[in-house]
Amino acid sequence: MDSKYEVVIGLEVHVQLTTNTKIFCGCSKDFGQEPNSQTCPVCLGLPGALPVLNKQVVEYAIKTGLATNHSITPRSIFARKNYFYPDLPKGYQISQFELPICQHGWLDIETEESGKKRIGITRIHMEEDAGKLIHTDGNSSAVDLNRACTPLLEIVSEPDMRSAEEAIAYLKQLHQIVTYLGVCDGNMEEGSFRCDANVSIRPWGQEEFGTRAELKNLNSFRFIKQAIEYEVERQIDVIEDGGKVVQETRLFDPDSGVTRSMRGKEEAHDYRYFPDPDLVPLVVSEDWVERVRAELPELPAAKIRRYSEQLGLSEYDAGVISAERPTADYFDALVTLYPNAKICANWVMGEVSRALNENAIAIADCPVTPELLAGVLGRIEDNTISGKIAKTVFEEIWSSGGSKTADQVIEEKGLKQVSDTGAIEAILNEIIAANQGQFEELKGGKDKLMGFFVGQVMKASKGKANPAMVNELMQKKLAE
Ligand code: ADP
Ligand code: MG
Ligand code: ZN
Repeated sequence: MDSKYEVVIGLEVHVQLTTNTKIFCGCSKDFGQEPNSQTCPVCLGLPGALPVLNKQVVEYAIKTGLATNHSITPRSIFARKNYFYPDLPKGYQISQFELPICQHGWLDIETEESGKKRIGITRIHMEEDAGKLIHTDGNSSAVDLNRACTPLLEIVSEPDMRSAEEAIAYLKQLHQIVTYLGVCDGNMEEGSFRCDANVSIRPWGQEEFGTRAELKNLNSFRFIKQAIEYEVERQIDVIEDGGKVVQETRLFDPDSGVTRSMRGKEEAHDYRYFPDPDLVPLVVSEDWVERVRAELPELPAAKIRRYSEQLGLSEYDAGVISAERPTADYFDALVTLYPNAKICANWVMGEVSRALNENAIAIADCPVTPELLAGVLGRIEDNTISGKIAKTVFEEIWSSGGSKTADQVIEEKGLKQVSDTGAIEAILNEIIAANQGQFEELKGGKDKLMGFFVGQVMKASKGKANPAMVNELMQKKLAE
């Protein structure tokens, strides 16, 4: 990237909420239904139909606002954003303008390039989504209004990011927070979490911002990064060639990796915003805010801190385990039952995630529940089984669909570790007798052969000999 220019990025994120019904009517908002089957006079925009605000949407907005350090506006206002498009039957979108529900938030991000940094969030407002146009053939388009009136939160950042890397770090954290809260399913391909990136450049040291382009159609983290990087190069070229960046909306084309001009950018005054006379001001009491605050789950940043500072996990392990809430929930349950965090983390990131991946199962549906896994770990701890046999036990519990406990599997399959000195010594004696030459070499100082003997005993005992005991007995034999 050309070092003559500083990059400035501000992001607008649209989060589709997981409520059962739409924001201003009782219609279901299921994805992928028969076109126009999830509609009523309100979301069809029929004359005289009146919107009624969905309380759950407000609750989710407050939750998201608190989790991202906003103040909640005690009395916020819905406004009409006027524009014409065939997917918007009323001719306006109900949104919030001057008094959004959440204001002045922030998130702390961390990147390799610039370390820890606070990104300001200007506001979060509630709004309804538009319908969808389906371009059937060359000459006509169909309108599907199932998505009309679907509840959205729009989260608008300050122009505080200075690289694609920072933008991605911010977005990933926001994505993690809304999915942790359960207010959004986070599915970017289906458009549940979508982002517009505003990008400009300015010469280093210049106070004033450059003219920005707004990039749309960014439905994966990878595309967002590609689009921003392409756009920065494009703007540098324009300026270096003596031209001017124009304020416009550009579309990212994932196939070619370029952004293309879509339309000139509207200004807020083009939308003729005004308070919606059909909706009364929204009053949110302090009690309500405090109740929601008290119910917030532990968020990823707090989890990472607790895992590393209190449980002694590495930053890396803490990050992996807290990345998705179901994994963190599993780990939290496991570590309460078996309080050795490092061992729990190794199993969750090792055997558990391997088996889940192989079988394409989500951790919430893992047949080896935290209770069952804690049972396995307990048997390693009390020397009933070795760590190696424990993997077999895990597999057996898995294939029983979680209907067997570690103890049952160990009993049925005879997997109990042999810790009986006599039995192990008998095996050892046989092996020494059969490999007299090697034993003498070992005695003579060829230490590498130690592994060979231990391995032979483990093999002869089908992995059930207690390895620590085998080692100890070998030492004794050598000293004889
Ligand atoms: P609009 O709603 O018309 O897109 P806003 O003023 O609400 O305009 O800003 C939208 C986003 O653009 C915000 O995230 C803001 O941080 C960002 N932004 C504003 N100016 C710039 C700029 N010069 N460069 C990059 N981002 C910008
Ligand atoms: Mg915008
Ligand atoms: Zn409806």
